[in-house]
Amino acid sequence: MQAVSVVDWVVCGSCQLKHTAREDQRCPRCGSAENPNPFEAPAASLMPKIAVAAHAGEGRYGLGVALGLVLGLWGLLGCLVFAKPVTKRGAIHGFLGRLGLTVIAVLVALALS
Ligand SMILES: [Zn+2]
Repeated sequence: MQAVSVVDWVVCGSCQLKHTAREDQRCPRCGSAENPNPFEAPAASLMPKIAVAAHAGEGRYGLGVALGLVLGLWGLLGCLVFAKPVTKRGAIHGFLGRLGLTVIAVLVALALS
């Protein structure tokens, strides 16, 4: 029987550092918990990003308002076709605000003429 070397090499799933397996199961460089399968760690670390993306998936109200105000009808139509629900609502409000400003401007112009 030969003595078998029992040095276990582990590749850190976070920083890719190759090091010996530690008793505390932590990477000596970045301190993250060991993962014997380097392909599992990235998938796990993607989960929070996916959750954030899903949370932000409703759209951006301020962006919609800006598009509706600045681009007017084209901004509104673009948002209605391409944008998320919250962005659409913002675009409609922005467009209505622009319409209101336009009406006021016309009334002022008529009053001054
Ligand atoms: Zn590491």
